[in-house]
Amino acid sequence: MTQNATSAAQGCIFCAIVARESEASVVYEDETVVVFMDLNPVTPGHLLVVPREHAVGLDDLDQATSARVWEVGRDMARALRRSRMRCEGINVLVCDGEAAFQTVFHFHLHIVPRYVGDGWILMSEPPERERSLLDSDAHAIKEAIASTD
Ligand code: 5GP
Ligand code: ZN
Repeated sequence: MTQNATSAAQGCIFCAIVARESEASVVYEDETVVVFMDLNPVTPGHLLVVPREHAVGLDDLDQATSARVWEVGRDMARALRRSRMRCEGINVLVCDGEAAFQTVFHFHLHIVPRYVGDGWILMSEPPERERSLLDSDAHAIKEAIASTD
């Protein structure tokens, strides 16, 4: 871990959980990730998939860690479906940045079991965007993809 990352990790609740210095209900761990129950679950069974390494957002994760986080997220979703937890559907959620509702600044995936009538409302119904604007949005993102290492 770099000096900056070490400083950022100080006082980080998820680093403390990963280090087993803070209590959590852990369901899975390997050399790259730890998965534990969210303290304030949207629905019972709500899991957090957390890389051991402190990284704030998606862009701070190295490729191998990122791949493992998403892979384990998929495995956890499958486990929830097969478990005796109520689970008729799954939402996988990432809050990357304050504007996207991130409150713990150590990257994590939310794996949220869903069922009809669980009461969690995600979003309003956005209006359809004009094709010319969609094309121009796509162009802006394609340019960025081309310049991403
Ligand atoms: P964010 O909004 O950053 O994506 O979500 C952070 C999540 O971490 C929230 O769902 C919150 O309930 C959960 N959380 C915050 N502090 C703790 C904690 O100390 N332990 C556990 N298990 N979850 C926490
Ligand atoms: Zn951390």
